[in-house]
Amino acid sequence: MKAYYANPELNTLSQEEIRIFQEKRLAPQLAYCYERSAFYRRKFDEIGLKPQDVKTLEDLRALPVFMRKDDERKNILESLEKENHTFGTHVCAPVEDIYLTGTTSGTTGIPTFSYTFTKNDVELFSQGLGHRFHLHGAGKGDRVLFIFALGIYATTMTLWGIRRFGALPIDIDARAGSEFMLRMADQTKPHYMACTPSLAEYLIGKSADVIGKSVRDLKLKGVFLTGEIGISIPELKSKLESAYGCRTYDYWAPAGHSIAVSCDADDYYGLHSVSPDLCTSFDDLIDPDTKKPVKIEDGAIGEMVITSLKREACPLIKYAYGDVVQVFTSPCPNCGFPGKRLKLIGRSDDMLIVKGVNVYPAAIKEIVAGFTPRVTGEMRIVLDQAPPRVVPPMKLKLERGSSVRDPELKGLAAEIEKALHERLKIRPVITWVEPGTLEKTTRKTPVFEKAY
Ligand SMILES: [Zn+2]
Repeated sequence: MKAYYANPELNTLSQEEIRIFQEKRLAPQLAYCYERSAFYRRKFDEIGLKPQDVKTLEDLRALPVFMRKDDERKNILESLEKENHTFGTHVCAPVEDIYLTGTTSGTTGIPTFSYTFTKNDVELFSQGLGHRFHLHGAGKGDRVLFIFALGIYATTMTLWGIRRFGALPIDIDARAGSEFMLRMADQTKPHYMACTPSLAEYLIGKSADVIGKSVRDLKLKGVFLTGEIGISIPELKSKLESAYGCRTYDYWAPAGHSIAVSCDADDYYGLHSVSPDLCTSFDDLIDPDTKKPVKIEDGAIGEMVITSLKREACPLIKYAYGDVVQVFTSPCPNCGFPGKRLKLIGRSDDMLIVKGVNVYPAAIKEIVAGFTPRVTGEMRIVLDQAPPRVVPPMKLKLERGSSVRDPELKGLAAEIEKALHERLKIRPVITWVEPGTLEKTTRKTPVFEKAY
């Protein structure tokens, strides 16, 4: 199946015409934010510009970052104190018009309500969010087993998207535990499943014990994965696809923006940007260290900066959400999708700098995972001082695979060191530990061990 845009109007436009389409939406969005939010007005005033001075994507890229997670939290504390609501001083719609809200888990501070929508927002964004499932066949008559920590969390909005295309989400709270999930999977006969990659991987080993059959016997037509770096790791993609007996897809929408999904292929060609009419994040990257704009070209790496193009409740302008990505501007070699694609590289706050080179733990983990089963894939980066600077050589602690014999370890370390040097330009020193020694982390968790 060839990937295409969620908004049918875009499917007839060239890339140049899509840029013009985005720029037509940019000016009214910026003017709306300036008019309605004290926070955004202050941000424009600080740089001495008015919204009408920002006409093109090039103008937008040249602006400094307006907001990071910490600023969003400050805005929320301010709105709680002064306006008695939790949506932040960047809220632009009247609070009584908010129709749906979702938050992050708040593991590193107070939860932020980045997933806050008016009724119009829900109408517009559910089109893009649901398109990612519909593109791969989920429609009328299909049931989608949807397993996340539910309640008021970020993933909630996606349920509206799934319903919009006629499919029925069976929303299961991941906190109910794997036994409950598998029993529900067995009983509700879903056609698709959506969850995190680490949960999909975990269920493979649990299934036979709980429901007396393998996950393949669930006969799913597809598994949708989000929340962590996942099937961009080829070993994980093939492990999941052979266990479930169906295709896996990666999907993504931080803060409900940058809506993207991978295409149907044996190899991985990145998250395809299917709703560029809703935000400009695939067109705005900065260097996570210097904060300078990064030129958008095929293979460019940088921290993504989100700007909404048509959002009422809590539009985002120049919001650096912390995701470091690699953008591809060439058409997809698999399906021919003409728009931008991206690969998640890591989080800007996990970034390390080794001799001037930016290195992301997730990228190291991906390369190390390529050596399974000779390694387990679990690893730690031992830091002698607070990140991001690392005095070389970087120290890497890896779990050996259970079948590897002692005399083979030296050669294996040399192979991994060579791969890391070729692909990431680092030359770490590897020490080995026994399998099962390191606590298992998800692909989202940083893998640091502090020795300082
Ligand atoms: Zn493709």
